[in-house]
Amino acid sequence: MLKVENLVKKYGNATALAGISFTVEKGEIVGFLGPNGAGKSTTMNIITGYISSNVGKVYIDGDEILENPTAAKKKIGYLPEQPPLYMEMTVEEYLHFVYELRGCTLPRKQHLEEICEVVKITDVRSRVIRNLSKGYKQRVGIAAALIGNPPLIILDEPTVGLDPKQIIEVRNLIRMLGRDHTVILSTHILSEAQAVCDRMVIIDHGRIVADGKTEEINRFIQDNRRYKVTIAGPQNEVLAILKKLPGVVACEPLSERDGDAIAFAIEAKSGIDIRKAMFYALAEKNYPLMGLEAIGMSLEDIFIKLVDKEGA
Ligand code: ADP
Ligand code: MG
Repeated sequence: MLKVENLVKKYGNATALAGISFTVEKGEIVGFLGPNGAGKSTTMNIITGYISSNVGKVYIDGDEILENPTAAKKKIGYLPEQPPLYMEMTVEEYLHFVYELRGCTLPRKQHLEEICEVVKITDVRSRVIRNLSKGYKQRVGIAAALIGNPPLIILDEPTVGLDPKQIIEVRNLIRMLGRDHTVILSTHILSEAQAVCDRMVIIDHGRIVADGKTEEINRFIQDNRRYKVTIAGPQNEVLAILKKLPGVVACEPLSERDGDAIAFAIEAKSGIDIRKAMFYALAEKNYPLMGLEAIGMSLEDIFIKLVDKEGA
């Protein structure tokens, strides 16, 4: 459905994309995951033909975006990071406007009605866009992307700025679209990609650091066992005990204190559960264990781990 080959994009001397390549098969929901500034929007703007790359090719179902732009763009529905909504128009007027703009030939009334039903904006069709909530505005943007029934839907950070309820609604909508569309969405939130996507392409500093099925990425992330433990006792002695536990690869005190208890971050080798051994070792020395919680990996941790793995 989509083939991206070696995209390089420079803004002046700064390299925003340093050679991005990936493919997306028909029917996939792919999460394009990376921190702010990673190059997600730049990649999406190149894929959709909004800006050009310095190097590289983008094929939408065989049509190269700059060589056959009309054919290629017909197959894409795009929700940019800042959707170009005309705030003074009603929803209805805006959708007709986009219908004309895209040269859509599907039966107009029925097509627009169906889209409004799918994205649940039927009840606000006659309202002026400016007066809609952020969640509704976002859905109008998604509706616009669906006009012409393009097989590939590209959504740039579709849940940014929404409240938790709206986020759930938009995620459900994306999953539903994924039943009969190929969907690529960008996000800087790992849990969002985990919740919605079959596959993740993880990008950092303009290059891809991981590309795999969500289950594979999850397994890789869960494999890491990190805890925050809070222990009452002298820091150096406790630290020495923790570091001696079998399977511990790293341990360091955190700045948090709770009375005479100190928090430590501790990481174990994959497949080794250190909790029992830790409890008995501390009990033996009469250093009470006051708290124990698993710490998930942050996106930054994952990048560090992925980049390490690549280099290994
Ligand atoms: P993301 O969407 O992942 O947050 P972007 O694609 O927006 O990342 O940006 C990637 C990099 O390119 C960033 O360092 C950003 O500052 C830079 N950049 C993006 N757009 C421009 C522009 N129009 N001019 C100069 N630099 C830009
Ligand atoms: Mg962006």
